[in-house]
Amino acid sequence: MKIRSPIVSVLGHVDHGKTTLLDFIRGSTIASKEAGGITQHIGATEIPIETIENICGNFIGKLSIQKDIPGLFFIDTPGHEAFTSLRKRGGALADLAILIVDINEGFKPQTFEALNILKMYKTPFIIAANKIDRIFGWETHKNTSFSKSFANQAQNTQLNLDKQIYELVGILHKEGFQSERFDRINDFSSQISIIPISAKSGEGIVELLAMLLGLAQEYLTEQLKIEENSPARGTVLEIKEETGLGVTIDAIIYDGILKKNDEVALMEVGDVLTTKIRSILRPLPLEEMRDSKKKFKKVNEVVAAAGIKIAAPNLDNVISGSPLRVTKDGDHVKEEILREIEDITIHTNENGVMAKADTLGSLEALVNLLQSMDIPIRTAEIGDVSKRDVINASIVQQEDPSHGVIIAFNVKVHPTAQEELDNSDIKLFSGNVIYQITEEYDVWIKEKEK
Ligand code: GDP
Ligand code: MG
Repeated sequence: MKIRSPIVSVLGHVDHGKTTLLDFIRGSTIASKEAGGITQHIGATEIPIETIENICGNFIGKLSIQKDIPGLFFIDTPGHEAFTSLRKRGGALADLAILIVDINEGFKPQTFEALNILKMYKTPFIIAANKIDRIFGWETHKNTSFSKSFANQAQNTQLNLDKQIYELVGILHKEGFQSERFDRINDFSSQISIIPISAKSGEGIVELLAMLLGLAQEYLTEQLKIEENSPARGTVLEIKEETGLGVTIDAIIYDGILKKNDEVALMEVGDVLTTKIRSILRPLPLEEMRDSKKKFKKVNEVVAAAGIKIAAPNLDNVISGSPLRVTKDGDHVKEEILREIEDITIHTNENGVMAKADTLGSLEALVNLLQSMDIPIRTAEIGDVSKRDVINASIVQQEDPSHGVIIAFNVKVHPTAQEELDNSDIKLFSGNVIYQITEEYDVWIKEKEK
């Protein structure tokens, strides 16, 4: 039995500071030379507990945090911001999340989207209220704790900050969450902590890391236990072509052990693929990368939690967000993945909407939202909008005009489907923020029923 590091993801609206925050955390831990340093993964960075203690100093002592968690495992936010692929069976891939909000801008569409996803998976999270250095009158104190920097601000500036914090508290309240500035919380089990930070100057990062460890301690005793010898389970983050390696997948292994030559099962559109792992790759340390053209080193095995690149035959059509399972007794695992897909895709309403999405995670989020709105679903599928979808919608429309529609997240419309749409009055609701699509549909229905 081993305890792995909790997997942490940073979610938030574009430009609110996800990348800057992760870079700062990496940078400050590289700079702290006394202990451990960091372990670079593909698509993730792991910071050992000693390093975090080193940075946080007595903040951790104050929280009386147990030391059995080996560290924090931060997933890099993918470039395409598709945090809906960060799923695993029955929940979120991340054990914890940081929802980052630009304190000067407040909640934006992707902030709401991220909050909805955290809500759906019941992921414990904290709010990082970022860019406090831009608060009117703020005097920056590089790399200090929020508490220390705040104490050194003019009273008016302090009020400006709190005004923005209470804007966030108000919005979160409307969304069903009680929250408070972290240093004013009296009940951590019912209130979400808001930690004011600057990802640029480092103010508040100490408290952010300490609060994450506190959250891990509060919620994650069971789910971090792993068997070091059980077959690996993971989630595919991205599918990438690499020179010399062909099509590879980047995956996070959250349980068990993965070995070279293991057979793994993965998801393709409408099917399950099994393939044998040719190589498991990890990033080369920075120093070595400089004097070699190679970016990766081959390893024989990895134990969770790990972020790795996998080279294997036939990976071209794997879907991002796909489950990854080592097959030990053949078909059994394949069936497990099929069942996982069916849980999300099989619906039995003759007269329901056509739901389409780009990944299993986004489809799961879309289906969940439609169900919570009591909207019946006829089909839920991964992939672009096809002519068949439009025809199916027309069939439904004849019986049930309000459900003869297509609701599509983050997918394209096939040209022949577009033609079919142009020649019919079937409505397509599409976009890249799930709740906005369903909101548009809701508005349309209300308009129709008038
Ligand atoms: P992402 O899209 O969420 O990954 O956002 P980025 O990390 O790329 O940040 C977007 C922009 O905001 C960049 O120009 C950053 O330099 C800037 N930024 C991020 N955090 C801060 C901060 O704390 N203070 C200030 N002043 N700028 C920041
Ligand atoms: Mg970014």
